Amino acid sequence: MRTVRTATRRQPALVDLAQARFENTFVRDLPADPVRINIPRPVSNAAYTRVEPTPVAAPKLLAWSDALGEFLGLSRPSATSVEVLGGNRVLAGMEPYAARYGGHQFGHWAGQLGDGRAITLAEIIATDGSRQDLQLKGAGKTPYSRTADGRAVLRSSLREFACSEAMFHLGVPTTRALCLIGTGDPVVRDMFYDGHPAPEPGAIVCRVAPTFVRLGNFQILTANGEIDALKRLADYVIREHFAGFSYAAWYQEVCRRTALLMVDWMRLGFVHGVMNTDNLSILGVTIDYGPYGWLEGYDPMWTPNTTDAQGRRYCYGNQPGIAQWNLARLAEALLPIIEREKLEEGLNLYADTFNDAWRSALAQKLGLESPDEELAAEVLDALAESETDFTLFFRKLAHVPLAGSDNELLAPLRPAFYAVDAPHEKLVAWLLRYVKRVAADRAARMDRVNPKYVFRNYLAQQAIDAMAAGDASALDRLMRVLARPYDEQPESEEFAARRPEWARHKAGCSALSCSS
Ligand code: AMP
Ligand code: MG
Repeated sequence: MRTVRTATRRQPALVDLAQARFENTFVRDLPADPVRINIPRPVSNAAYTRVEPTPVAAPKLLAWSDALGEFLGLSRPSATSVEVLGGNRVLAGMEPYAARYGGHQFGHWAGQLGDGRAITLAEIIATDGSRQDLQLKGAGKTPYSRTADGRAVLRSSLREFACSEAMFHLGVPTTRALCLIGTGDPVVRDMFYDGHPAPEPGAIVCRVAPTFVRLGNFQILTANGEIDALKRLADYVIREHFAGFSYAAWYQEVCRRTALLMVDWMRLGFVHGVMNTDNLSILGVTIDYGPYGWLEGYDPMWTPNTTDAQGRRYCYGNQPGIAQWNLARLAEALLPIIEREKLEEGLNLYADTFNDAWRSALAQKLGLESPDEELAAEVLDALAESETDFTLFFRKLAHVPLAGSDNELLAPLRPAFYAVDAPHEKLVAWLLRYVKRVAADRAARMDRVNPKYVFRNYLAQQAIDAMAAGDASALDRLMRVLARPYDEQPESEEFAARRPEWARHKAGCSALSCSS
């Protein structure tokens, strides 16, 4: 009997992680650390060290990303799989390792860093045929742990889990997160670095990305004169992720992608917080969610990272310049295999790509047909006049009427203002020019680029507090809202509100340390 064929493709059936097939190309194709001893030490002539996760007391599934699970072809995990995701079991076919990398931290070469608490279990083939690494963050000590414990606390793990997925749904290139596992083990942290260490619940995030290779993976090899290994790593990354590119074209493509990533961060008001060269991905995706934050009141000097409060090296406005600085450090690391001229071209391409795309992004945010640099520069200046919520301002700007009194022009924007009685003279002057330049039907277009919902720090903190009290439903609800950040979702209005006053100076809501 002949069967009917329909145009819709059937969703492949989801399988449990324990039934999945794994690959290990990173391990197979790159030089391994010949030493297998799992104690902190300098490693040489290697891209990674084989190491297994350290078991935890009582792994418990706290959150799961259905969207990512479906993409990977994975069903919600069985009890066995929760053991695997908590680091208590390694499945047949997995060859776990910690990667070796170095990096510039806050502008200074820090030597060997490496996966001090992240362990990649294996690669899995996603439903689109792509190969994806499964990595546990907080899975125990590795040779790269230095003096630290290899673990992660619930608050930072939840923040990484949720923000990875929120960024994906915002359309920003990012590593993903499959699940959040409570370990049942306490982890001692001095949260404020003020000499008061205290136990906190421990957790593990399973992160997913085509690769977790960072700029620093190349830097450490060149810094140690391991040029053969450098070539092998470059060949591997190009073969797997930049097929057909020459070394020079690859570097330039990394520059181009990183420039577009910076435009995404800037257009959304995302501040990474720790843009060290070991925290920049070779794929140009967002990686390593630590003391990140989202602009509330627009302020180019704002940083969520208390460790950076003095220098503000990684503040919102510095991010595009810092990314280029980091790419210049990568260029130095690639000098043994790429001509200086080609590397310089890459850095120029970075600047040109960023400048062009940022101009367009601002035009889109304003709902303009074509870029208007003056109007864009002036709105940012006007936003600094009084504390104005970056996300809400652009979302509400779509609803400013094309004519009216000062008050009528300002009315739709009021929810974005933190200070009720602040002057808005600059802003009104700007609005009067703005409404002459835009069309009445711009709202739908603007809504597609100006999200209503971002993962504000206070929302994160509320989800953390609920989870710590044993309630996973708050995170679950928040994740469902953040899966459609550009939609109105009137039933979830409270998640779009500007930061409440109670959160202005509350730890976790306004500023974060690197303690995680
Ligand atoms: P980060 O600033 O989080 O990107 O981390 C910088 C370096 O410190 C990386 O090599 C991390 O693997 C390592 N690291 C951070 N926290 C821990 C920890 N609790 N245990 C071991 N290594 C860590
Ligand atoms: Mg890092």
